[in-house]
Amino acid sequence: MTKEQLKQAACEAIDRNRDRIFALGDAIYCEPELGYKEVRTAAKFKALLDELGYPYRDGVALTGVVSRRKGRSSRLNVAVMGELDAVISPSHPDSNDETGAVHACGHNCMIAALGGVAIALKEANLMEELDGDVSLMAVPAEECVEIEYRNRLRAEGKIHFLGGKQEFIRLGEMDDVDMMLMQHTALAAPGFKAGAGSNCNGFTVQLVRYIGREAHAGAAPFEGVNALNAAMLGLMGIHANRETFRDEDHIRVHPIITKGGDLVNVVPADVRLESYVRGTKTSAILDARDKVDRALRAGADAVGAKVEITHLPGYLPSILNDGLMGLCYENLKTLVGEDAQYDCVGFGGGSTDAGDISHLMPTLHAFFAGAKGGFHSEEFTVVDKELAYLTAAKALTMTVIDLLADGAETGLAIKQAYQPVFTKEEYLTKWGGLDAQ
Ligand SMILES: [Zn+2]
Ligand SMILES: [Zn+2]
Repeated sequence: MTKEQLKQAACEAIDRNRDRIFALGDAIYCEPELGYKEVRTAAKFKALLDELGYPYRDGVALTGVVSRRKGRSSRLNVAVMGELDAVISPSHPDSNDETGAVHACGHNCMIAALGGVAIALKEANLMEELDGDVSLMAVPAEECVEIEYRNRLRAEGKIHFLGGKQEFIRLGEMDDVDMMLMQHTALAAPGFKAGAGSNCNGFTVQLVRYIGREAHAGAAPFEGVNALNAAMLGLMGIHANRETFRDEDHIRVHPIITKGGDLVNVVPADVRLESYVRGTKTSAILDARDKVDRALRAGADAVGAKVEITHLPGYLPSILNDGLMGLCYENLKTLVGEDAQYDCVGFGGGSTDAGDISHLMPTLHAFFAGAKGGFHSEEFTVVDKELAYLTAAKALTMTVIDLLADGAETGLAIKQAYQPVFTKEEYLTKWGGLDAQ
């Protein structure tokens, strides 16, 4: 069969399974779970793999699932990823009553689309026609949140990195993968239904603990050391540095206080913060991080408190791959016509651990504008599931066909042209070792 015939068969298979794909995406939406806790979400994806008769490994990076489908020959191995995790937005009408979790980043759409790819591979008999393997990967913990919890998982030796794709790299899951394809839901806008990629910031993470001295807040505050005052001065110090950040570096520092004290009538002696320092390039991020550290320490000095700052590796900025984006863009034009864009969002201030993958192999991070409202907010709603679930699945499958049909020549050429920034070992020591710097 020709590439075009394969693509048509794949799209028809996805359309025939519309209800099944919708059911998967909707079921995941109804039971949102935060990163490294996505047990039920993973179970829903595994149930689909069971139905399809696909063997898989689960518990990868705690909750991830990997199923490798063999081509008629194995000249390349293309990973297709979807993310399992939700965020917290307690005021969102669909948030979980106990945890506040909700899919306000649309990751349920990703697993729905990944399920669509899995279905198409089987129902259109694609693997018999392709000269490479396809690794279906449901990956945990893209949202870099609950830092204190994840730092405990680190201390227990269960993870090293905060992000799931980073853990996939560390655990060797990407060792024999040649390139990675994924997509994310985007916000609907006039003239924009889908895009082949956009830049993302990188970031580092700081876990901060101010230690003061407890005392009776009314009777003897003069005997205490107020860690909350230290933290507030530290935050003000960060603000005083913002004018030194260069526009082109897109630096964003956005700390939160996760613990502001223990009891209102005790001088706060244990105050905790989490922060990111984001930016377009690693050197600018590390420079800004030094300033943030300095400001945080100054807050402690001012009132005689102590401060402990733990550096954790966040995510790397994204590197766009024109080879993969070009293939995807052509497919997007077929699917959504003139509402397809190549580089779709301009510069995105968000971040993704797909950025880390993009330093090791060609990586596609496409967008499908099926949502409205702001990301990570109570207004976020998926309003076009045809686009967010089905069109996304079609575009990914079509791009897989482009890469692996006809002797996988197109995929091999993209692999050949790619220069990795890091070997896996360099990545683990240079980026994974950031906390030691
Ligand atoms: Zn998000
Ligand atoms: Zn997201």
